[in-house]
Amino acid sequence: MADIVAPAYRVFPIIPALKPGAMEGSGPYVSGEKMNEALGFPGKLVDDWHDKAIAKMGDLLGKYRSLKVYMDSCVHCGACSDKCHYFIGTQDPKNMPVARQDLMRSVYRRYFTLPGKLFPKLVGARDLTREVLDEWHNYYHQCSECRRCSVFCPYGIDTAEVTMAARDILDSVGYGQKYDIEIIGKVHKIGNNLGLPGPALIDTMEGLEEDVKEDTGIDVRFPIDVKGAEVLLITPSADFFAEPHIDSLIGYAKVFHATGTSWTLSSMSSEAANFGMFIGNYEQLRKVALRIRQAALELGVKRIVVGECGHAWRVAYSFWNTLSGVGEGADPDDKFAQMLQKQLDHRYRQPTHICEFTWDMIERGALSFDKEANDKHIITFHDSCNVARGSSMGGYPGGQFDIPRNIIKSVANHFVEMDPSTTHEKTFCCGGGGGLLTDDLMELRVKGALPRMEVLKQVADEHGVNFLAVICAICKTQFSKVMPIYGFDRKMVGGVHQLVSNAIKLGEK
Ligand code: SF4
Ligand code: SF4
Repeated sequence: MADIVAPAYRVFPIIPALKPGAMEGSGPYVSGEKMNEALGFPGKLVDDWHDKAIAKMGDLLGKYRSLKVYMDSCVHCGACSDKCHYFIGTQDPKNMPVARQDLMRSVYRRYFTLPGKLFPKLVGARDLTREVLDEWHNYYHQCSECRRCSVFCPYGIDTAEVTMAARDILDSVGYGQKYDIEIIGKVHKIGNNLGLPGPALIDTMEGLEEDVKEDTGIDVRFPIDVKGAEVLLITPSADFFAEPHIDSLIGYAKVFHATGTSWTLSSMSSEAANFGMFIGNYEQLRKVALRIRQAALELGVKRIVVGECGHAWRVAYSFWNTLSGVGEGADPDDKFAQMLQKQLDHRYRQPTHICEFTWDMIERGALSFDKEANDKHIITFHDSCNVARGSSMGGYPGGQFDIPRNIIKSVANHFVEMDPSTTHEKTFCCGGGGGLLTDDLMELRVKGALPRMEVLKQVADEHGVNFLAVICAICKTQFSKVMPIYGFDRKMVGGVHQLVSNAIKLGEK
């Protein structure tokens, strides 16, 4: 950490000069034998990795039409090339989205197209060698699957999907990434990314009740495993103890308290994050999601509300219906999905984002705020990638942009937008998404944060912005870590519900 320096702020956000090989060999730690085997992957790189990897690639190309279309349709127009925060921050040309895709496209051409089989050199096709495999491990873990590049691609090519496919192939031959595999293992074993066991969670929630009582004089509850509660809150486990995440958890609890909503956490399923998406593995994605279904069925809840977590909301919003039976389009042949469908209250959106819940209550006049309580903050809002580009809120296009902003404006007096070329669907990644939030990728994380930090500096200098509000656990952790390196106070980042918590009037309704 000590020797990592932030890249210099650019005077104008021009296309950076190329530094070939700048991030060569900067990949993450490789996952260990036990971790891999616990997830059903080979313990270490298998001897016949070449044939297995090509077979897996063929399998994915057959399963996901989009992947084949992406492999075939790029015209190398270059529109995406300067849109990736990792390219901007590292200047490594292999971090251009098109170049990242080409790492796989060149292999695809060699093994799955006729010209590539006959005249590989002419069509830029190459064999899958050990060097190429290492390159994949390196550069497909320098992509946060943020999908910013796809917004600018005239063909809608989604580099994130290519990255997911590459990681899926790497895992299948025993060459996975330590951080992601380890985290998924903890969810299967204990129920959350942090490996926080049930009794510790119960203790933590009791401690929180005491803290809030001391602060407000009011008995705000943080219930766990309450059968028959109306709402099951599924939130990122960082909310249980990490700063600033915990302040948002307090905010959710205060909203539930003030609106008289009965709610509960689950000690068995205490994690919203689903790293199965990051590694592009459908079976893991589903297995993690099924814990939530099990908890919902056991507790008999009527609604599932998801806390502030970007990719978790994408998984919940876009995939829970077919993965676990929450939402429209549940599998009619899946007995448990149908049981859940019968149990949930369909007057409400299933699942509901905590911002949708709170905004709905604000619109109904069920919450009151003392906006002055946030007067020390001049706030800007960072759209998190998976919310901005992978989901929505409120049942209408663009709800994911309006609703968090509406809440902020309802609970605070001073709000400033960042440069519109870096917000809404064009938002920049925090630099730590997509399963890269690990210390062994710190250099990449710091460099990848550059574009967001540049724009933050602009509003800090011009408008005195001193609070960066986000609705993503990864963004919170990443910004807290990299902001001091860019000269900001780490306490400047916080959740939207932290602002809600500051201003909410308890006991009025
Ligand atoms: S998905 Fe995001 S991180 Fe990956 S190449 Fe595109 S812009 Fe870069
Ligand atoms: S913008 Fe699309 S078509 Fe153009 S180079 Fe990038 S991925 Fe290829």
